[in-house]
Amino acid sequence: MTTQTTPETTDPTVERTLVLVKPDGMRRGLAGEVLRRIEAKGYTLVAVELVHATPELLAQHYAEHVGKDFYQPLVDFMMSGPILAVAVEGQRVVEGFRSLAGATDGTLAAPGTIRGDLARSWGSKVMQNIVHGSDAPESGARELALWFPAL
Ligand code: UDP
Ligand code: MG
Repeated sequence: MTTQTTPETTDPTVERTLVLVKPDGMRRGLAGEVLRRIEAKGYTLVAVELVHATPELLAQHYAEHVGKDFYQPLVDFMMSGPILAVAVEGQRVVEGFRSLAGATDGTLAAPGTIRGDLARSWGSKVMQNIVHGSDAPESGARELALWFPAL
């Protein structure tokens, strides 16, 4: 007897990314809107958890930004309320979610994207831009291990 595998399970383009609904998105009640857009695009939610981030977790998550002028304000912002951490799976989902999220600066992000439709940036040092999305498959794997150690 041969074992049948579905095309999906053998498709090398299926990958995972970490999405965070940041504290500004949670305060504004936009978690459902973010999840709706992810699901409407055709991606699968693999795990969801409400997290209160610690300085240690954020130092690992934002390792590339430690020491920059916006780092401490970013940490303060990311600890200002709960975060919804979401593991998302799909074909080319890392770049696909970055496309859904839009540019980092919400003022400049294209309309139609999460940040372009829902976020603005203004004077303060830290950009409150609703969501985080991993920037490469390797970052996705690294970040998912931090936020979902049991996954
Ligand atoms: N950020 C900021 N000021 C900057 C650059 C980044 O406040 O000049 C914040 C912003 O919230 C951003 C996060 O730091 O989402 C991580 O920065 P990155 O350049 O990795 O942007 P992203 O990958 O989130 O688009
Ligand atoms: Mg980034």
